[in-house]
Amino acid sequence: MAENKQDILRQLKEFEKEATAERREARELREDAVGLLTPALLRKHVRAGTGLVLAYGRKGHTVEFTIDDLKRFVAANERAQKNFRREVRGVPLIQLEKSSDPADIQRSRNVRSAMLYKVNKNLLFFSVTGNTRAHYQVRVRLEDWDMALHSTAMPLVSARTVATGRISFDCSCGRHQYWYRYLTSIGGFDVNPPKEQDFPKIRNPGLKGCCCKHVLKVLRVLKSNTIHTVLAGEIERQSATIGFADTVRSRFLKADELRRVSLARGVARNPTEARQAQQKFLREAQEFITDAKKKKSVKEMQGKLKPRHKQKKLHGAMTEVQRKKIVESLHNLSVAVKFNLPGFDLKTGLENLAKEFSVSVADLKGMMQKEGIA
Ligand SMILES: [Zn+2]
Repeated sequence: MAENKQDILRQLKEFEKEATAERREARELREDAVGLLTPALLRKHVRAGTGLVLAYGRKGHTVEFTIDDLKRFVAANERAQKNFRREVRGVPLIQLEKSSDPADIQRSRNVRSAMLYKVNKNLLFFSVTGNTRAHYQVRVRLEDWDMALHSTAMPLVSARTVATGRISFDCSCGRHQYWYRYLTSIGGFDVNPPKEQDFPKIRNPGLKGCCCKHVLKVLRVLKSNTIHTVLAGEIERQSATIGFADTVRSRFLKADELRRVSLARGVARNPTEARQAQQKFLREAQEFITDAKKKKSVKEMQGKLKPRHKQKKLHGAMTEVQRKKIVESLHNLSVAVKFNLPGFDLKTGLENLAKEFSVSVADLKGMMQKEGIA
């Protein structure tokens, strides 16, 4: 009997070894694969409304996918996400802020900076200034990141959605350790290790509050456009990766990105540098506004030149560029509505777009149907 058990154990160990080797081999093969339909490629073609041809094997065969095929892939993807929804992890950013202790919120106003410096898949690393120690590390996991990678929406829209959506977090400070880490563990919004299992019986027996001042500062930074721009770039990079998604490597931000995200905190380390960066930013902003004004006045002039009746039946006379612009806006609107972004509902959104592009709401709805925008 004992011998038999030994035998089974030996077989299982052998089996485990083979499975590991197979997995390693599959990974190497995949990194060398051709003709992959990456999320980035799918997004690009669905947004442009064009089909694509991919290599099939290495012998020169190809396979063609029409835009309708691609749209069916997207629909299947969304259906599967709905049917097999994973365990809900993380808490929406706004709820974290609301559940925090007012004393922590008050303290967070004096935290000088929180700087994003590294991205590892959906995990963000921040360096936050402290008192007892010079810096604390705050780690934030964006729980809807995979959805953003596979979304056909504009990466900037997806970035904003995930950065302010469900998140999990951890801070290296004492306040988080002794007051809040246990709460994040049982609530399923911790980043571990370390995983805390000891109830905070002395410091926080009522389990009140939620985020330390460092985390609260990070949450504020997560709402800034600068961070959204960096994350949009990261979505583009990760969703274009060939190979299994978990082979995506972590990345330290580049010097120019660090400079930009350091502006998000409002204060840079070196006052001269901060002033120069601020001046450059203002100059660029001014140029942008002047440009936008120019474009706007040209648009107004074009509008005046156009005969009145032509504007009404724009749908027939629409140029390809205009059509693409409208389709893109409709895509973004539908994503914003789907994620319940504050301030977006379909009716008002469509009315605004109708005004902006001088078309009727009925026409926009027709386009949505034709383009398969849900
Ligand atoms: Zn902290």
